[in-house]
Amino acid sequence: MYQFNYYRAKNLADAAQKLAASGDAKLLAGGQTLIAAMKLRLAAPSEVVDLRDVGELRGIRSDGKTVVIGAMTRHAEVASSKEVRQAIPALATLASGIGDRMVRNMGTLGGSVANNDPAADYPAAVVGLGATVTTNKRKIEADKFFTGMYETALEADEIIASIAFPVPRRAAYAKFQNPASRYAIVGVFVADFGGTVRVAVTGAGPCVFRVAEMEKALARRFAVDSVAGINVGADRLNSDIHAGPEYRAHLVGVMAKRAIAQAVAA
Ligand SMILES: Cc1cc2nc3c(=O)[nH]c(=O)nc-3n(C[C@H](O)[C@H](O)[C@H](O)COP(=O)(O)OP(=O)(O)OC[C@H]3O[C@@H](n4cnc5c(N)ncnc54)[C@H](O)[C@@H]3O)c2cc1C
Repeated sequence: MYQFNYYRAKNLADAAQKLAASGDAKLLAGGQTLIAAMKLRLAAPSEVVDLRDVGELRGIRSDGKTVVIGAMTRHAEVASSKEVRQAIPALATLASGIGDRMVRNMGTLGGSVANNDPAADYPAAVVGLGATVTTNKRKIEADKFFTGMYETALEADEIIASIAFPVPRRAAYAKFQNPASRYAIVGVFVADFGGTVRVAVTGAGPCVFRVAEMEKALARRFAVDSVAGINVGADRLNSDIHAGPEYRAHLVGVMAKRAIAQAVAA
């Protein structure tokens, strides 16, 4: 790890000012990715701005139509939240399946979404539910937020403040996980808003994506057999030691069916 200056921000405005003042400052949320990247010297910010004391970035509130979750809310808090369990149980279930207990107790919604790991779970929920990301500068729709592998629409001095998740009629998330890390080899989030259905896939490609053909078929009839025979092409999918592109393409169909079955049964 290279030397760096550490700053504990007092509030969002303070964090934003510190971030904007330095050319290469990095925000620190739960440190589950950033600290490892710094130890490996893959990241070497001169300044680290810690968000842990920024109370306005924490917390969960629900008005029945939307669940708003602060960026610094830990995965374990989302998993155990009564509000989330009641309004969008699929989101709480997704959070409860992230990594291990330590990762869930330290990792944050904002850190996960800003990092946009191709195998992360939250991007599937953000896109699958058509959520809105609120930053210190603006609101960004889910479909415009994730732009590529580890890339988002965030500017260098932009901070995620919260994410607003619309409450669906029913939803579910099914993931085929890496048994060691629990990251998604393929994860599919399906949400039925009554007349509109969204299907978001994580893990399979360089970045979360929607499957329009499944969405149309499910909007006509929300049932497992509606997606039978709908396949995603393997050509632009990921390949690593865990799974090749054809296997990942197959898993998208399998995970979609599992998610639909769970949503129907809920
Ligand atoms: C062993 C292990 C297993 C894991 N398994 C899974 C898994 O199964 N599924 C899964 O989805 N994830 C998994 N993760 C990742 C985990 O969910 C973390 O949320 C993720 O690493 C981000 O970490 P963090 O929230 O601590 O953010 P940090 O590491 O602190 O920050 C990550 C990045 O986001 C930026 N950032 C942080 N907060 C903000 C903000 N509010 N606005 C703008 N930028 C911000 C930081 O500057 C940094 O670039 C795993 C991690 C580990 C170490």
